[in-house]
Amino acid sequence: MIERLLVAVDGSDHARRAADLAGDLAARYEAQLVVVHVLVYRRLPDAVRRMAEIEHLVEPAASPAPSLLRWPQEESAEDARIIAALGEKILDETERRARDKGAREVVRCLLQGEPADAILEEAARRRVDLMVVGCRGLGELSALLLGSVSHKLLQLAPCPVLAVK
Ligand code: ATP
Ligand code: MG
Repeated sequence: MIERLLVAVDGSDHARRAADLAGDLAARYEAQLVVVHVLVYRRLPDAVRRMAEIEHLVEPAASPAPSLLRWPQEESAEDARIIAALGEKILDETERRARDKGAREVVRCLLQGEPADAILEEAARRRVDLMVVGCRGLGELSALLLGSVSHKLLQLAPCPVLAVK
């Protein structure tokens, strides 16, 4: 019996398909759906910063980065805020897609850390019965069937993992 399932999303098309399937399964099983996105800190290209400005993703003179963000580089606080705002957008979109498919109970988790480890920890903490992920994500090595995150999840998850093409 599936009472709680988790979908991990990174903003890729594979993850969108995973979200649609997870939403459909949550509806059919009347299960709780846990939507997880792991924030990964990186220096952002200028184009992304400009896009964030145009989209008003973060206020120009924003207050300090949310306490969730523990990245050390003071001068990168703006990048950290943009990454967190993009993460919220990914969760918004995923929740919307899953609800459109009929999911009723949706829980959102915005995490930090090494993506696969953070997802595995959350899955164990919430005792999920099934994990749904994309085979691939935003990475560029599309010749490989699995990305490094989905590969690690398939190897280490304590529950069945559904990898969506
Ligand atoms: P790589 O990152 O190894 O270059 P990739 O980006 O193509 O390759 P993965 O990162 O393994 O592939 O992505 C596969 C799936 O893992 C995604 O579709 C998504 O379901 C999940 N995933 C990847 N990164 C994250 C993340 N930061 N937060 C939540 N889920 C993620
Ligand atoms: Mg990736």
